[in-house]
Amino acid sequence: MREFDYRRAPDVSGALALLDDDADARCLAGGTNLVDLMKSGVERPARLVDVRELPLDRVESTPDGGLRVGATVTNSDLAAHPDVRDRYPVLAQAVLAGASGQLRNMATVGGNLLQRTRCAYFTDTTKPCNKRLPGSGCPARDGEHRNHAILGASESCVAVHPSDMAVALTALDAVVHYETADGAGTLPVGAFYLPVGDTPHRETALPAGALVTGVWLPPVPVAARSRYRKVRDRASYAFATGSVAAAALHEEAVRDPAFGGPVGADLAHYHVATHADIPEIEAHWVPDSESDPDDPLDIRGIGEVGIVGAAAAIANAVWHATGVRHRSLPLRPDRVLTAGHRA
Ligand SMILES: Cc1cc2nc3c(=O)[nH]c(=O)nc-3n(C[C@H](O)[C@H](O)[C@H](O)COP(=O)(O)OP(=O)(O)OC[C@H]3O[C@@H](n4cnc5c(N)ncnc54)[C@H](O)[C@@H]3O)c2cc1C
Ligand code: SF4
Repeated sequence: MREFDYRRAPDVSGALALLDDDADARCLAGGTNLVDLMKSGVERPARLVDVRELPLDRVESTPDGGLRVGATVTNSDLAAHPDVRDRYPVLAQAVLAGASGQLRNMATVGGNLLQRTRCAYFTDTTKPCNKRLPGSGCPARDGEHRNHAILGASESCVAVHPSDMAVALTALDAVVHYETADGAGTLPVGAFYLPVGDTPHRETALPAGALVTGVWLPPVPVAARSRYRKVRDRASYAFATGSVAAAALHEEAVRDPAFGGPVGADLAHYHVATHADIPEIEAHWVPDSESDPDDPLDIRGIGEVGIVGAAAAIANAVWHATGVRHRSLPLRPDRVLTAGHRA
């Protein structure tokens, strides 16, 4: 193992100075990925800057109705936080679908986002790998590539990023906050990870020497009804073969044909979209020159058709994807599937 310098960062500016001072420095958070890679010789930092004691371990509501999650919040604390469980269940579920309880107690938000791929050739220094050693080749293309990319792969690399958390954060349009010695910056998670292309060794758009300080979750009311699903080789712990994070508005009041009453315990079980699911609306009033402001039948508010855009947007998306126009709502999977596709 290569000898390295170990420094404990006293505060954010101290961490930035330590990172800026040595181009070969890396942050050490929970160490559950970095230390393994150092033992196998994949990572060979000259300096470790321990960020675990930085004051970035809080989950806080923001004035706009979102949440700010500090970079050193552990995966366990994130998944257990009441606001995350209630308002962003997809994130809590994604985190709990990753690793094991012991690992989640150590692993942090920043470390999870920046963990490296699990491609077996990447972690084996006796093998070529374009990501570890640019230009050396990609044995995974013809070799072992279970769990590798179906979409977004390139001639140079077919590896995927292993983070479950990142999948949920992408679906939530989350934004990564970072700082460097030159100032602070933000990156939407969708732009944080770079496409592999012909430079698979460049994984993120973070500038050199950056310290991830946290992740901002925007207010997404529909996220309260979101889910994470992961297909993997075993339920105890395993990386994803495939996973999906999704949120949907859905509404269908089903009545019991025998008794006439609603099926289900109460109206909450219907997950009916409410005013909380409606995005901000800018109303443009079109005055009628003949209208009488005292007329009780004149314009008094915005009607449902004008403000409930979600159903129309989803119907249009299904039409674009399948070529079939659906004239009745809700767009249940069975209705969409039986209507088929039009070329
Ligand atoms: C057996 C096993 C099973 C696993 N299964 C899963 C799984 O199913 N799903 C999943 O998502 N993950 C899984 N993991 C990975 C695990 O989630 C990661 O190891 C963990 O999240 C990394 O976090 P950490 O804090 O320990 O990071 P570290 O190992 O400390 O660091 C990882 C990287 O992030 C960088 N870094 C850390 N914090 C910062 C920061 N604030 N700013 C800038 N850079 C930073 C480090 O320099 C390093 O490059 C598994 C791991 C193991 C060992
Ligand atoms: S898929 Fe990527 S990480 Fe794996 S061997 Fe090829 S270049 Fe390396």
